[in-house]
Amino acid sequence: MTSTELARQKMIDTLRKKGIDDERVLEVMANIKRHLFVPEELEHRAYEDGPLPIGEHQTISQPYMVAYMTHLLNLTGRERILEIGTGSGYQTAILAQLSAVVFTMERFVTLAQTAKAHFEMLGINNIVQKVGDGTMGWGEEAPFDRIIVTAGAPEIPRIYYAQLAENGILVIPSGSRRIQELKLIEKKQDETITTSKGGCVFVPLIGSQGWK
Ligand code: SAH
Repeated sequence: MTSTELARQKMIDTLRKKGIDDERVLEVMANIKRHLFVPEELEHRAYEDGPLPIGEHQTISQPYMVAYMTHLLNLTGRERILEIGTGSGYQTAILAQLSAVVFTMERFVTLAQTAKAHFEMLGINNIVQKVGDGTMGWGEEAPFDRIIVTAGAPEIPRIYYAQLAENGILVIPSGSRRIQELKLIEKKQDETITTSKGGCVFVPLIGSQGWK
């Protein structure tokens, strides 16, 4: 084993210790090289269980949060997913391994371009990217079986409910600018069931239906 493989394996052990027991999610995370998605000068910290800066004042999410949110999406491999907040693309790459196709939106063109280069490098070809305000969703491609938002919303944008398919699942942090609560929303026969999944800290979701 190389030292990065060893570090990655340690990250998986840490996730298990913190309660992640979804073997499909752990297997994918054991194979995706997180160090490719962080700035070169931070590569040595890529397998710590924490967020890291990726430029534009944004962060790559903590591995635990990536694992937990992915687990909550309960993916079978057949889903069409909408992801808001491509950022580094690390979460996107993981989702792509566990679903049919991921439609991902990012506000910053710079981040979207860097993420794109990484998807190409890894040979992942079931990701469709768009630069723009994700608080309006992606009407042309709706409905989605799953929607995941990786930035904190002041309130859950109504449009996500409309763009979620029957039996769909939405995972989104919402709350104040500093601290949020992770919400799991399941759509069943046009009713929605919302469950709180604990506190979390994300960068703000900025847009017409988000923070100004
Ligand atoms: N999952 C990503 C998280 C990146 S941080 C990762 O682990 O790398 C959240 C990202 O959401 C940031 O890149 C930010 O620019 C983006 N973002 C914030 N508001 C947005 C919006 N309205 N539409 C699209 N992207 C948004």
